[in-house]
Amino acid sequence: MSYGRRYSGDPRWTTARFGECAKCKKPLAGKRALFIPNGKTCLCEECGRPEMATFEAAAFDEAVMTGTW
Ligand SMILES: [Zn+2]
Repeated sequence: MSYGRRYSGDPRWTTARFGECAKCKKPLAGKRALFIPNGKTCLCEECGRPEMATFEAAAFDEAVMTGTW
């Protein structure tokens, strides 16, 4: 993970202080959560993991295609 901070809207793992998962409505306080600035949403670790995997795959493909990898 070293392609830098190209987008300020990149999702990132954080520890939530409040709120709930946007998908399953599980409370997130004190838990690891995926913060998605674009949608201003938080997902629990369970729901966030596949989202992050999708994002990383997309970022990788783009880097390969544009030759910046
Ligand atoms: Zn969830």
